[in-house]
Amino acid sequence: MSIVIVSDVHANLAALRAVLTDAASRGAVDAIWATGDLVGYGAEPGEVLDLLREHRLAAVAGNHDLAACGKIGVNEFNASAAAAARWTAGHLDIPSRQWLADLPQTRIEGDFGLAHGSLRDPVWEYLLSGEQALVQFELQTTPYSIVGHSHLPFVFEERRDGVPRLRRMDDGDEVAIGNTRLILNPGSVGQPRDGDPRASYVLYDEPAALLTWHRVAYDIEATQRKIIAAGLPRWLADRLSEGR
Ligand code: ZN
Repeated sequence: MSIVIVSDVHANLAALRAVLTDAASRGAVDAIWATGDLVGYGAEPGEVLDLLREHRLAAVAGNHDLAACGKIGVNEFNASAAAAARWTAGHLDIPSRQWLADLPQTRIEGDFGLAHGSLRDPVWEYLLSGEQALVQFELQTTPYSIVGHSHLPFVFEERRDGVPRLRRMDDGDEVAIGNTRLILNPGSVGQPRDGDPRASYVLYDEPAALLTWHRVAYDIEATQRKIIAAGLPRWLADRLSEGR
């Protein structure tokens, strides 16, 4: 079993295609796990949902997915995000909006619990600190959990004697799965924010018990042109080349 773990695809079709092509070049992909924000910000929400659903997919909803299907309002979004959420809602067909509305906010796949923000607050919490990781480990009924939302690739390792250890993950970094409980963030496919504009994902080699973080280049300029042509806020295009 080889599983592609993605988060925060944000309707970026070229980035998602690049990730799936890269993963396939490393061996057959059996499933995709996605920790939310499949849509929002980017110009190709329907195409992204179609491509994801061609695979065996286990997904949870993020705040942008819930806004796109009308389950939450946009009052807590900044201006660019709110404009993008309204645009996305208007450019998804009714079955796709219903599919998003039916997504759970948490789910368990094997030894992994999935949530967009955190298990405490799946929609909104940015899990970044050791204190937050401690709470997550308390709520975690599985050895490992996967979150997104911050768009930062990292892993927290549980420490029996104190604050969990944070590791920021770069291209090619690996974690062997063993007795240590983990919280992992695969980073963002469609809008990385760690200064590296390449799409980020994790490949989980289940037989080898190995998680590997990967970064993949894609056609950012073509993606920016689509965002601008769609009438989405220009900042959403600009930030892609900065990885911010
Ligand atoms: Zn996001």
